[in-house]
Amino acid sequence: MDEDDCMVSVAKFYLEFTVGESCGKCTPCRIGNKRMLEILTRITEGKGEMADLDQLQNLATVIKDSALCGLGQTSPNPVLSTLSNFRDEYVEHVRAHKCRAKKCKALLTYTIDPLRCKGCSACAKSCPAQAIMGETRKPHVINPYVCIRCGMCISRCHFGAISVI
Ligand code: SF4
Ligand code: SF4
Ligand code: SF4
Repeated sequence: MDEDDCMVSVAKFYLEFTVGESCGKCTPCRIGNKRMLEILTRITEGKGEMADLDQLQNLATVIKDSALCGLGQTSPNPVLSTLSNFRDEYVEHVRAHKCRAKKCKALLTYTIDPLRCKGCSACAKSCPAQAIMGETRKPHVINPYVCIRCGMCISRCHFGAISVI
């Protein structure tokens, strides 16, 4: 892992695994991990709140202390570790709705630089959501409310006019 990885997404990835593996015998693992996964999902979708970070910390600590077996006792580790070492990334997701690693799709915004755009319409033709508008040979624009953030347009533009922020 490096700076191209989103630490919130990494914690979510491991939790998805443990939620899937939980046998369901004890409550902390069966229900607590699901609640943590719901919170992490909200954060990666830009719907998180600062109170969620405390909630995550509390849940993770309780689950770690009270789960019956090693799976539940270790499942909160990625959450605790990333919260401790990369808390700024969590705060960025919640407050600025920004994923610096550009891994959380819901937080990405695709834009066209009008100075670089030649109006060739290649991007518009490839867009599965028909989110790109513009007349031929004039700068095109992306409607952020329609864009599904698939990234297709970037690969179609030969003029480097599309970027993601
Ligand atoms: S901690 Fe162990 S016993 Fe408890 S639900 Fe998870 S896998 Fe089952
Ligand atoms: S492919 Fe690039 S140059 Fe062509 S319309 Fe889209 S953004 Fe503009
Ligand atoms: S990211 Fe996908 S949906 Fe959004 S404008 Fe580009 S091609 Fe269309």
